[in-house]
Amino acid sequence: MKCSTCKKPLNTTDRRVRYCSDRCKANRPKRPNLRALNNPADAEQIPVGPTPPRKMTVDQAARDGSDLELLMAMRDRVADQVADVTCPPRDLAALTRRLEEIRKQIAAERARIAEEVDGVAATVQDGVFDASAI
Ligand SMILES: [Zn+2]
Repeated sequence: MKCSTCKKPLNTTDRRVRYCSDRCKANRPKRPNLRALNNPADAEQIPVGPTPPRKMTVDQAARDGSDLELLMAMRDRVADQVADVTCPPRDLAALTRRLEEIRKQIAAERARIAEEVDGVAATVQDGVFDASAI
């Protein structure tokens, strides 16, 4: 058993004890709020690790972006089309639906990454993050 905040071993086998001190309890890492999935717009608030997704164009993201970066680039591209006043109404309906789908996918992807980051933080103690390993 280890302290959930500082990862120091806990001198107890009591599974209910999760922190070594009141200070660690107060400073516990915040878990992402997965209720955010109910409102895709809030998903932007889910932390996705030490490197925030970059703002890229669709073709840049398709070449060397992550899944999340590609989704975000597509969202921006579709949002631009929706915002375009010359967009024909019959296209607008389809584009708006597509935009909503992409937002949900972004929310799901952010939640997945947040879970992953959380899991890694919980299991790896002294490992150095190696970006080239992924
Ligand atoms: Zn601690």
